[in-house]
Amino acid sequence: MRKINGEDLVIATHNQGKAAEIKDLLEPYISNFFTASDLNLDEPKETGSTFAENAILKAKAAAMASGKIALADDSGLSIKALGGDPGIYSARWAGPEKDFSMAMNKINDLLEDKEDRSAAFICVLALVWPDGYEEVFEGRVDGQIIWPPRGEKGFGYDPFFVPDGYEQTFAEMEPEQKHKISHRAKAFELLLKNCMDDAA
Ligand code: IMP
Repeated sequence: MRKINGEDLVIATHNQGKAAEIKDLLEPYISNFFTASDLNLDEPKETGSTFAENAILKAKAAAMASGKIALADDSGLSIKALGGDPGIYSARWAGPEKDFSMAMNKINDLLEDKEDRSAAFICVLALVWPDGYEEVFEGRVDGQIIWPPRGEKGFGYDPFFVPDGYEQTFAEMEPEQKHKISHRAKAFELLLKNCMDDAA
């Protein structure tokens, strides 16, 4: 596996919150960070049919356009009884208004006659080098969809997801607790373990 050791990195997102979180995590290993917005890079259409395909296409577009190593993520909620929906469409199910209360209601209605309310949050990270070399890491956290939603912390689908082995929803947990066990934490753990050189 290729290592990163003090090189530049493009974070292939226009979401400044996401970019700031990723910078914090990778600071010790990277000399200069850029975001897709810093470099005026176009955001490619997410035309893939899996989280990995979408993460790779975003990272590849940024690596090719910038000539630097690029990192992208794609994440979402996959519900077993709904055949994996909303999956890669997790953000889109909330509509242009980003109305997650509406999206959670819709999902709860679809689950009304289903016994199985198991679900997983999934996060895929793709690192792409300018010569086209790729590394992909997936983190997941399994849990149950509960109703009614509970909690004010977090974002998106957090209020109706209880991770296995816990009583609280992601939206009731302190952020530090969620960040220890989340799909995103697990994907970053793998990325750090495999691609970041301690010597940096
Ligand atoms: P992305 O930014 O394109 O990866 O979109 C991910 C979408 O999945 C978000 O808009 C949320 O709807 C959902 N999602 C991903 N991770 C989480 C999480 O940790 N909590 C709640 N919702 C999440």
